[in-house]
Amino acid sequence: MNDLYSRHRRVLPDWLALYYDDPIEITHGEGRYVWDATGRRYLDFFGGILTTSTAHALPAVTKAVSEQAARIIHSSTLYLNRPMVELAERIAQVSGIPDARVFFTTSGTEANDTALLLATAYRRSNTVLAMRNSYHGRSFSTVGITGNRGWSPTSLSPLHTLYVHGGVRTRGPYAELDDRAFIDACVADLRDVLGHIRPPAALIAEPVQGVGGFTSPPDGLYAAFREVLSAHGVLWIADEVQTGWGRTGEHFWGWQAHARNGPPDIVTFAKGIGNGMSVGGVVARAEIMNCLDANSISTFGGTQLTMAAALANLTHLLEHDLQGNARRVGGLLIERLRTVAARLPGVREVRGRGLMIGVELVKPGTDDADPQAVATVLEAARDGGLLIGKGGGHDTSALRIAPPLSLTVAEAEEGAAILEEALRSADASC
Ligand code: PMP
Repeated sequence: MNDLYSRHRRVLPDWLALYYDDPIEITHGEGRYVWDATGRRYLDFFGGILTTSTAHALPAVTKAVSEQAARIIHSSTLYLNRPMVELAERIAQVSGIPDARVFFTTSGTEANDTALLLATAYRRSNTVLAMRNSYHGRSFSTVGITGNRGWSPTSLSPLHTLYVHGGVRTRGPYAELDDRAFIDACVADLRDVLGHIRPPAALIAEPVQGVGGFTSPPDGLYAAFREVLSAHGVLWIADEVQTGWGRTGEHFWGWQAHARNGPPDIVTFAKGIGNGMSVGGVVARAEIMNCLDANSISTFGGTQLTMAAALANLTHLLEHDLQGNARRVGGLLIERLRTVAARLPGVREVRGRGLMIGVELVKPGTDDADPQAVATVLEAARDGGLLIGKGGGHDTSALRIAPPLSLTVAEAEEGAAILEEALRSADASC
């Protein structure tokens, strides 16, 4: 066990999960690559979702952060804050929400917590609908709306939550249905739930489930849900913590694949927007945002430092059309991985949108998840110089691939070749 890992084990909580039998200490990064403390270089196919949406050590962000740090870092409350106003204006503009108001937090969990605060206050109800297999954070309120029970450290909750079908199609009662029939079945499930409970505040959903293994419903599911929800006055909260900022390639926001009936009432975001700085937030119609009888609710959400980083990052990703890059390079990567998968019985499906790609592994000849194979591929990919993620439902069943949005075609090819080797070695070991 390396020395830092022993010290980590002695002083940090046991549940602070680390990847790999011999965990990596990342010391620096550039573009789509990171280096560990031994000087080894890795192509990073996971950091794009974790923190770094565009590129490691992006010069525009580094410059904005260091210049802002040298000037002032202050609270986001009590005094006017120019970068916060500027970023809020930009986000309101790209949000698609009319008369939008933006509130900044320091994490995705806090963003979802704020969305729940708003929705429950606005609707005077603490009943919330969430999706099976979902992940929305691990604070006291967000645990209650996280359907993926493997990620719930407590079963207690201040909310009364009911879970509905729709986020996952790989397995489950509706897996065999075509798109239309799947949507109809999920809508019938939603109607059934709504018919038997007190009026809920909101339905919260990730347009593509992240921790759940990059599963996505057919386009239009949430538009169909929206029709039913609106008839009951129930709000739609889109958790874009993983899917925002062009990640899915086709759209800037994940909800836009479901946009027939207009934008969600509330959108939450975090992770990649700060390109590593802790920025989260909520954007909602003014009447919803302003329903709180509150003073400010965060000291650190929206500090000049994090706002300067996010402004530089958002400007960069828009000016360089990184959404288009995600669509093009992600499309090539998905095709390439599907070709590999067709030859390997342990790979059940390669699914995804843009640079959000899930690879579902099964025990060959069955439809059973294979967490052991996932672990083997993760280690083998690391040995080959590639970092990837994992996820899934109650079992860890999928590899998760989410590089920074600036991934080049050559890097996609390099990563796919390493992953192919890793998948073959897992196939050979079973
Ligand atoms: N929502 C989603 C969809 C997420 O994937 C995550 C983090 N994995 C969160 C919320 C919570 O974000 P954070 O870890 O920044 O609190």
